[in-house]
Amino acid sequence: MENLELAIQEIKRALPGMTLLENEPMSRHTSFRIGGAVRAIAVPSDMTSLSHICDILKQHELAPFVLGNGTNLLCPDEGLQDLLMLSTEKLQRLYLLPDGAIYAEAGVSLSRLASFAQQNGLKGLEFASGIPGTVGGGCFINAGAYGGELKDVVESVVCLYVGDQGLYEVAAANCEFGYRQSWFSKHAGAVILSAVFRLEAGDPEEIAAKMRELNEKRRDKQPLELPSAGSAFKRPEGHFAAALIDQCGLKGYRNGGAQVSEKHAGFVVNVGGATAHEVYDLMMHVRNTVFRETGVQLEPEVIILPPDYKLEDHSPNPMRNRVTLNDPNAEESGKTAEE
Ligand SMILES: Cc1cc2nc3c(=O)[nH]c(=O)nc-3n(C[C@H](O)[C@H](O)[C@H](O)COP(=O)(O)OP(=O)(O)OC[C@H]3O[C@@H](n4cnc5c(N)ncnc54)[C@H](O)[C@@H]3O)c2cc1C
Repeated sequence: MENLELAIQEIKRALPGMTLLENEPMSRHTSFRIGGAVRAIAVPSDMTSLSHICDILKQHELAPFVLGNGTNLLCPDEGLQDLLMLSTEKLQRLYLLPDGAIYAEAGVSLSRLASFAQQNGLKGLEFASGIPGTVGGGCFINAGAYGGELKDVVESVVCLYVGDQGLYEVAAANCEFGYRQSWFSKHAGAVILSAVFRLEAGDPEEIAAKMRELNEKRRDKQPLELPSAGSAFKRPEGHFAAALIDQCGLKGYRNGGAQVSEKHAGFVVNVGGATAHEVYDLMMHVRNTVFRETGVQLEPEVIILPPDYKLEDHSPNPMRNRVTLNDPNAEESGKTAEE
């Protein structure tokens, strides 16, 4: 706690123009609209200031928690007074590389990325246009929908590893993308800065039509009118979480302001003033009931804070041997991590 206060003072001195939100309610930064105050949210305007903040935190033996659009988070009502969040909101560069791949910084929304691809006649990201997260949050969890996943289109990810402050370009093959997971979600300490997407040429009209079709499907089936964090549980192998929950008679089940959506049993929605405790207890009730009735164990897809990480748990640096920055492939892609 004391270290965090010292780090915050130093960050303020080093980056006086940067937005630093102090004691900021997380309910303002999460799609669930739930969560008490986090000690601070730093909103660096570029990668240089972001890396400066990580450096200061490291000197105080701290690591940041990276915040994308907050669409997959359940934050505690009690707040997170021992945490500094690093928002990627201002990392918004998005452009075509000379070889036709797309370069996107971490804060770019997946919907903007998908629209950019469509406008440039590139197909493969239609599935992502309705996912409300960012490139960083999407790569972290290998976001997917309607049969597509980011892993199908990501070529590489550049991240800053807080353990050694190094920049690494990690080829997709080394990102360990799996169903709603990646190397980044399995190990703490990497701040995703950007990603390169390799897509196929396609007809812009057809791509736009596909995006419209998927987004209509989403509006039809999902409770988009109420705050949520998307699917509350991962899809268990061989089953669908929503079908199991429905089968157990839990559709519409309510705990205070938290409810299993009446429209889509896979979503937990905030019907008004829900607390994190209410959502959590409801999720545990659903999980226990489904297990008791069907024998299937549901696993939360929503990330429940506070995070369970310690910088010292990640030494020696797990990024060693994953370095591809000086790899010929990094040059082939026409960019370096400093871009
Ligand atoms: C209505 C609704 C529909 C949804 N539909 C889908 C769907 O179809 N498919 C799907 O997969 N998900 C879906 N989601 C969930 C969510 O949008 C995705 O998981 C998304 O990828 C989260 O991105 P985010 O930027 O909001 O991340 P956040 O919620 O801000 O963060 C999630 C995790 O990612 C980490 N993270 C974020 N950015 C970075 C970064 N730059 N570097 C390192 N770590 C980072 C955070 O630390 C955190 O652990 C939905 C959510 C909602 C509310």
